[in-house]
Amino acid sequence: MPVQDARIKVVIQRTPSVKSFRLEVAEPAPYLAGQFLSVALKEGAEFKRYLSISSSPTEKGHLEFTKKLTDSAFSKFLDNLRPGGNVKIEYPFGKFTLRDGCEKIAFLSGGIGITPIRSICKYVVDENLGVDIALLYANRSVSDIVFREDFELMQKQYARLKLVHVLSEAAPEFKCVAGRITAGVLKDNIADYADRKFFICGPPAMVEAMKNILSQELSLPKENIITENFQGY
Ligand SMILES: Cc1cc2nc3c(=O)[nH]c(=O)nc-3n(C[C@H](O)[C@H](O)[C@H](O)COP(=O)(O)OP(=O)(O)OC[C@H]3O[C@@H](n4cnc5c(N)ncnc54)[C@H](O)[C@@H]3O)c2cc1C
Repeated sequence: MPVQDARIKVVIQRTPSVKSFRLEVAEPAPYLAGQFLSVALKEGAEFKRYLSISSSPTEKGHLEFTKKLTDSAFSKFLDNLRPGGNVKIEYPFGKFTLRDGCEKIAFLSGGIGITPIRSICKYVVDENLGVDIALLYANRSVSDIVFREDFELMQKQYARLKLVHVLSEAAPEFKCVAGRITAGVLKDNIADYADRKFFICGPPAMVEAMKNILSQELSLPKENIITENFQGY
């Protein structure tokens, strides 16, 4: 996996604190939906991060990553980058990808953990793979939902994508489950959970909590649980 130079083509504000960066890559490498890349903004470990690829391999012409912007030096530098700016990338990495036995799957995600899931869903929809998807996506409020319009469009295009928003600050006019993802919420919204492979992605504490619900409260076998930990949150 050689380090490559990439030029920022487009910057998209997804939520008040989340931005997507679409890159033009001279010699794009093949990757699988759900994999991640490393992004170096300049010299030094402080300016390098692992980030999921939020685009799908079916979206030719750009590679996209999506970052939650914090107070870190990396985030501040990134936030100031504009189209035409350059970064160094290395990819693909990771095993948070579709595999045999993924005809029926479920995603559990929180906040920025949606990035590789957006990639996989877009891939399934574009290729019309027939995979049956249930997605529980937890956020604090409506304005924190990343890729909201994207998912709304995908749901119109693909009948086998069921998305349930779970909001800790529920808005009365917005269709969602109020609270957090619990065993009860899971059972109520994914009745056939025992037949699905589960993909969990988010900050480490969230991934751990979801893993415990699935394995301890719902007795799912370990081989049916695939995780991606966003170390650093
Ligand atoms: C496979 C993978 C995919 C990821 N995908 C995304 C993504 O799509 N979007 C996104 O916003 N973030 C993603 N992350 C998290 C990302 O790499 C950063 O860790 C996170 O964005 C915090 O960086 P920061 O510069 O904003 O904050 P910082 O303030 O630098 O980080 C917060 C704290 O975490 C520590 N930290 C930072 N990075 C790491 C690390 N890699 N391991 C352990 N501790 C660390 C810092 O020392 C600090 O204490 C991913 C992480 C991994 C491992």
